Amino acid sequence: MACAVFGCKYQKGQTVSLHILPTDPKLRSKWVQFLGNDPAKLPPKTLVCSRHFPESCYKNFTMNKMGFARKLILKAKAVPSIYNGDTARFKHQNHDTLQ
Ligand SMILES: [Zn+2]
Repeated sequence: MACAVFGCKYQKGQTVSLHILPTDPKLRSKWVQFLGNDPAKLPPKTLVCSRHFPESCYKNFTMNKMGFARKLILKAKAVPSIYNGDTARFKHQNHDTLQ
């Protein structure tokens, strides 16, 4: 199990959550757009780690940060937008995804 984002430094044992590619076609295509991959080439269980989602994408970010929730829970319409710690590249594309 590894993060599908190219160049991601995610390593086993780090405190990140892994999120599976959503099945909803519309949302799925936004994740694929972020990954920059050909959808046909993605494995059925594509995973993206929690480092690519801004805090606002999580239902329980504060709880997790305080140590009350072990696993981060994504909001239903969350889309990854942080690429190797650089948000600028994708920010303009994802401003409307959480509405
Ligand atoms: Zn990652």
